[in-house]
Amino acid sequence: MLDAKRFLIALKNMGIDEYVFAEKEGPTLSGLKKAVMNCERCGLAKTRKNVVFGEGSPKAAIVFVGEAPGEEEDNQGRPFVGRAGKLLDQLIERIGLTRNDIFICNVLKCRPPGNRDPEPDEAAACKEYLLAQLDIIRPRIICTLGRHAYNTLLETDAPITRIRGKLTTFRGIPLLPTYHPSYLLRSQGRIKEAWEDMDKLKTML
Ligand code: SF4
Repeated sequence: MLDAKRFLIALKNMGIDEYVFAEKEGPTLSGLKKAVMNCERCGLAKTRKNVVFGEGSPKAAIVFVGEAPGEEEDNQGRPFVGRAGKLLDQLIERIGLTRNDIFICNVLKCRPPGNRDPEPDEAAACKEYLLAQLDIIRPRIICTLGRHAYNTLLETDAPITRIRGKLTTFRGIPLLPTYHPSYLLRSQGRIKEAWEDMDKLKTML
């Protein structure tokens, strides 16, 4: 359930004063996006070209959460473009859905230079935005892509091969971890497992 009070306190703690709060609707994705687009909470603000807030339906039944924008995402300001994005589209199609039906975002909204792994302080600084996105959308299912998204939300340090495909919950929402599309492009022998995960998501819907 939406915890607007916790959400607003989190935004206040972030020093965000210009957050747009729609009177009737409460917190909205568009209002949150306006706040995030000017964020300078961590050092990635200095090296990014664009903030990649995420995109899709504000009423999405599934939210996909990746790690961080790559070069092309940073250039375009959109999540999962390029080859990995095309593969993600195919995974989503397997569920019988399109990008318009779901929401896609990352733990980090800004690109780490050279696509390095997120630093713990960067993930900690940006995590509140992800939690706010989940609070606003209130999806029926969360699907994490790769180990960083899972480990950030669950506050653990598990290898992807151990957690992938194992259903758990996050704040009462079913959460299914699967591989990151970029990893699948490098490790095509794992694609069958990713299809199985999408079939599981379809059944859960
Ligand atoms: S990565 Fe997140 S916390 Fe860091 S500057 Fe970008 S939006 Fe802000």
